[in-house]
Order: sequence, then C-alpha cells, then structure tokens
Amino acid sequence: MEAHILGFPRIGADRELKRALESYWKGGSSLPMLTAVGDALKERHWHIQKEAGLSLAAVGDFSFYDHVLDTIAMLGMTPRRFADSGSDMDRYFCMARGDADANVPAMEMTKWFDTNYHYLVPEFTPDMVVRRSNNGIVEETRRARALGFSPKPVLLGPITLLCLGREREGADRWRYLDAVVSVYCEVIAEMAPLCDWIQIDEPILCADLPGAAREAFVPAWRKLKTSAAGSRLLLATYFGALGENLALALESGCDGLHLDLAREKNQLNEILEILPDTIRLSAGVVNGRNIWKNDLGESLAILERIEKRIGTERMLVASGCSLLHVPIDLDLETGLDPELRGWMAFAVQKCREIGVLRDVMEGKDRENVLRENAAALAARRSSPRVFREDVRRCAASVTEAMLSRRSPYPVRRERGKAKQMLPMLPTTTIGSFPQTDAIRSARSRFAQGRLDRVSYEEILREEIRAVVAFQEEAGLDVFVHGEPERTDMVEYFGRQLEGFHITGNGWVQSYGSRCVKPPVLFGDVARPAPMTVDWIRYAQSLTRRPMKGMLTGPVTILNWSFVRDDLERPEVCRQIALAVRDEVLDLERAGIHVIQIDEAALREGLPLRRREADAYLRWAVDCFRLSVSGVADETQIHTHMCYSEFGSIVRWIAAMDADVISIESSRSGMRLLEAFREFEYPNEIGPGVYDIHSPRVPEVEEIAGLIRAAVAVIPAERLWINPDCGLKTRGWPETKASLRNMVAAARLVRLEVEGASEEDSRQV
Ligand code: GLN
Ligand code: ZN
Repeated sequence: MEAHILGFPRIGADRELKRALESYWKGGSSLPMLTAVGDALKERHWHIQKEAGLSLAAVGDFSFYDHVLDTIAMLGMTPRRFADSGSDMDRYFCMARGDADANVPAMEMTKWFDTNYHYLVPEFTPDMVVRRSNNGIVEETRRARALGFSPKPVLLGPITLLCLGREREGADRWRYLDAVVSVYCEVIAEMAPLCDWIQIDEPILCADLPGAAREAFVPAWRKLKTSAAGSRLLLATYFGALGENLALALESGCDGLHLDLAREKNQLNEILEILPDTIRLSAGVVNGRNIWKNDLGESLAILERIEKRIGTERMLVASGCSLLHVPIDLDLETGLDPELRGWMAFAVQKCREIGVLRDVMEGKDRENVLRENAAALAARRSSPRVFREDVRRCAASVTEAMLSRRSPYPVRRERGKAKQMLPMLPTTTIGSFPQTDAIRSARSRFAQGRLDRVSYEEILREEIRAVVAFQEEAGLDVFVHGEPERTDMVEYFGRQLEGFHITGNGWVQSYGSRCVKPPVLFGDVARPAPMTVDWIRYAQSLTRRPMKGMLTGPVTILNWSFVRDDLERPEVCRQIALAVRDEVLDLERAGIHVIQIDEAALREGLPLRRREADAYLRWAVDCFRLSVSGVADETQIHTHMCYSEFGSIVRWIAAMDADVISIESSRSGMRLLEAFREFEYPNEIGPGVYDIHSPRVPEVEEIAGLIRAAVAVIPAERLWINPDCGLKTRGWPETKASLRNMVAAARLVRLEVEGASEEDSRQV
C-alpha cells in the first residue's frame, strides 16, 4: 500500500524561505543563494517524507511564492504589463509583488478556497498566447529521482486553474482550454518515464462547478491520460465532498482518485459501491488543515472498510489535503506543556502518522500503536482543560432575546449618546495607528524580559497619548486609541482567553514570505479578566471626543485559529461570542459609548458550496449578534470588514444589525455600494475613502470625489467617512497627511450637502 502526502509546507522549519526571499528582494543576496535555499528545503522535505515511511515524495509542491503563480509561469500566461520585467525570476516576483518604481501593479491575490492561504489570480486577456514556458517541475522530478527518492510530481489541474482565473477585457477563458491542456500533456509526457504517479489537483470538484467547467472536465482529462503512458494519474480532490461532480471524476480516465476523508467521510460508501476496478483510491484520512493528533483507530476503521471492498493493492493512504496549512514540526515548540503536546501533530508528525497507518494496515505492531494513540486521545477528552461546566452552562442558556438589541436601529439612532456629538458625515478610523519601530522594539524587549511591564506599558500609554493628540489636532470625530498593544489581533485576544494556546513557532504561510501563527483553540473558552478596558478607558480619559472601543469578533477569532475538533464550530463560536459579550459590557460600564467589533474574516468562513452558505451565515451572524446585543440603546455598535465583495451576503450583513459597518471600497471607486443600495441597507455605512495598502497620500479632491460618489448612492445621514482598513502597516507621515486630507474632504462635502438641503428647504 502506498503512503503519501499531497504536499509539504514550504517556508522551512525556521522560516528560512521567508528570510531568503526578503533578503533577495532587498538586494541583500543573489539568485543562486536564493535557489540554494530552495533546493535545500525541497531536499529536506523529501527526506522527512522518506524517513516517515512514505513511499512517494511530493515534488513541485514547493514554490518560491505560490503554486498557482508557478502554474501561470509554466503556461506562459504572463500578463502584458510584465513583459519587460527582466529575467524569469524577476518577472515571477514582479507578477507577485508588482513594481512600484515602474508603476506596474501586481497580479490580484485572493484566498485559496476556504483556507487562509492566498494565491495569485490568473488573468485571461483576449490576445494571450498560452505556451509551455519552463520545465521546472520536470527538472525537479529528475533531481528527486537522482537523489534516490520516488518522486510524485504535483500539478495544479487545468480545470481548477481555468476556474480560478479572471477574465479581462472581454476574454473568454474557455477559449484557452485546448492550449492549456496541450501544455499539460507535454509536461506529463516528459515526467511519465520518471515516476509511478503524477498528482493533479482539482479541488474545484469539491465546489459548485460552472457549466462550462463541467463540460470541459472529462474531455480534458482524457487527453491528459493519453500523455501519461506508463505513469498513473492521481486525480486529487480536497476541501470537501465531490457530490454531484463524482461522475466526472469517475469518467475522467484517472488511475487513482484522492478523497479528503478527513474533511468529508460521508461519500465514502457511495463511492466504494461504484468505483470501477480501473481506479485506485487514495484515502486522505490525516487532516491537513488542523493540528490535532490523528485518531488512528478511526482512520484504520475507514481504511479497513476500503480494503474490504477493493483490497490493499488498490489503496493509497494519505493526508486529506496538502500539509501547507499546518505548522512544520511540533518538536520545535519549546514552551509547550506536555499535556497539550500529547494532543497535537504538525506536518512532520502527520507524515509519520500516515506511515504508521500504512504499517499497521500491513500487519505491523497494531496493538501497541493503537493503545498509545487511544490513551493520548482519551487524555485529551477527559482533561479538565477542555471542558468547563460553567462555560457549557452559559452557552446552553443563551436565549433568543440575547441575540437582539433592545430596540430597532431607528430608535437606537435617536437615542445614541455618540450621535449627539457628531456632525453629518462623521470621520473616524478603523482602529490601528502605525506600529512604529519603537513599539515593536519595546514589545520584543518586553517579551525577552529585557523591559519590565511598568516601563513597557508606559511606552504604550505614551503612544496612545500621541495618537489621541493627533486626532484632536486633525479634527476627527470619533477617536480610537491606536491598538499599540496588539500585534496580531487574534493572537492578542487568544493570549488572554482561556482555552487558547499561542504557539512559539507554529507559522503557516499566508502568501509569499508572509506567515501567520494561528492560535490553537483547544478547550472551552472563558474570559478570566477584561482584555481591553484599561487601555480604552485610559484613552477616553485624554479626550472629550467619543473613544471607540476595539474588539475582534467571535467569527474572526474562530476562522483565524486552529479550532478544536471535538466540539461543533457553531458551539465553539458561541463560547467566544459570550466572552466578547462580557468585554463589550465591561467597556460600556467603563463609559465607552462606541464599540467596534471587527469581523474581518466573516466572509472567508463561507462554505465552498452555495447550498451550505445560509446555514453558516445564520450561526455566524447569530454569534456576532450575541456578542454585541447586551448593550443599551444609547451605545453605538460598529463592525468592520476587510473586503469589497458583498453581493450575495448583503442581507446577512444587514442581519448583523450593527449600527455602523465600515468596509473596504476605495479601490472599487464606491461601486460596491450598489449592493447596499439595491438591498436598501438600513443602517449606517462607512465605505473606505482611501486605500491603506500603499503609502500614497490621496488628495482632498480625490477623497471628496469618492465621498460625493457615496452620497449619490447612500443618504448622507447614514454615511461615515473612514479609511479602508487599519493603519498599522503605514508610517506616521503619510498617515497624518492622509487623515488630514480625509477630514478636509469630509468637511467640504458636508458643506455642499448641507448647502444643498438648505437650498431645498428654501424652495419649499
Ligand atoms: N481594528 C483593526 C485594525 O485597525 C482591524 C483590522 C482588520 O480588520 N483586519 O487594525
Ligand atoms: Zn480591514
């Protein structure tokens, strides 16, 4: 029985790739130095797989930036604007990151299915020529073989690639199908003599497939198959069930079908019933998305069910999806207590689990392995750290009434304490102010014990004073404290809530060289003490303007953490919501009348299947409402979301019933407000009036133009003026200049609107 993983994390146990990339980009190292780091990482990862007992070594899963971009490069699908971007590697990075000096914008980036990984979006333009443009993966396969590994090249499948792209200038992506498929055929034909298996990923089969893709799938795959002579094609599906796309997979001509059984086991019986003899089954029983130790007993039961039906010769055992989404090695976690350690597995450990499962299936050491694993799982289940009677009782006693504010929005609007102090088109910011080197250095000195708490907190207070003084001087209407005490917002709350563990080295690639360290949510969630109140109260003490309290919402905390697998997600989210609710009430008690609860990650939790969307949105919105609904009518609740596509979810956004929502919109020129107008969104909106992703300072007239565009769609009485998102990645000079311009633009349009309405009343 073969054992394999769909892919290994790329960044390196010590984030070597991150450092190598950033040094290369800064001009601090040469291309040969960068490729040497890449080669060493690939080789190390092949060794890890081999040592774990896996029979195949994934090749082509490594990438210097993103595997979708690698595929774009292989197909020569370089957008025109990058034609002059230098050598192959320079062009590759220019596509990923843009070139500010040459004014060439990067390719668009978006989330990879329902993960927190971002890929570069292929662009289809009418005049594009698709042609084979490198042989990187063939060379890698050859190298792995020469080093004595049994390589299994991994390619992103043609249909998924086509579906993930975006059509520009009226292009039709499906016109490129044949050209794309023939490049794949060529590459497959060259790799076939070098390997037993070629893995081709088509995760799009686990999503709603557009009609054109459904038609294209089988013919395209049949062509791939004819090029694979001698080698087997593994059709890899993951992140969900195949559902109605199962027939396509079975007719594709593939030699093996991979299923993500860690994510979705329900379809297994049906598939086993109808799987033709010609197709082998790769059983993805080890979860590639979380960090929990595998339940080997359960996995074995699944594997045995498959064995009974099709026999071991036709089986492979695998990870559900690529291990890209988990940290690398649990052994590198130093500050981890033995109890928690006993519950977890990172990528290296997951490779071993897969090796062990294959060994046991082949008759080795079953008793011992199962006994040890069962003991670890039992210890986790019975640990007092995962189950808290008081938390369960609270969560169970949530009533319908706790999900709603006391009065409807129009009543709240009249009663609002903040409102009495606010002009039309009030100005505010999204929360964070620049995280300066001084703050960063103080934080790291504090973490290393080189700075005592009193001095550290005084540095933060000094920062808050500066942020408040600036807002006073710039004339903003609703203030923030600037969030200097937070690095990553989810980590900030995770550190203070019970039931969370913050890893020391649990990095996961977000995009390119950017990594995140998701907290591990292992147990019932409780808030031992207020988390933000002292900071906000201090900030409020410095001004008479309303100070906005800043919290991260329950859905975002959930979606950006590794979540326990022994309790349903809605239940876990409800526990977080109750903790946030207590914090909201404490802020209100401390005299804060404007409170913002960020839900930056609400949309990314959307299931891949449309038919499952409403169920998710229902509990997600309920959790948000639970977290904010305890407050009096007088308190104004804001929320913030970091994206600009709302279309089909506007009604759910409205159902959140926040008094004010701020969204990203400057780059779309307010077009997204259409969705809100069409829906007749009833509450207040702050569409971002300038892009915070670049240091560029927008002119007053430019911002005023966007505000006027917003006023044309949404009544001015319900509009707020704010930047697209938080300012923590910006420097002070551009922040000050931009916010001053923003305030000036708001005043300008305010006068115009008020002038116009006086005009109206005179005419009446
Ligand atoms: N309040 C946060 C900030 O300003 C919001 C960031 C986010 O939603 N990503 O940084
Ligand atoms: Zn944002």
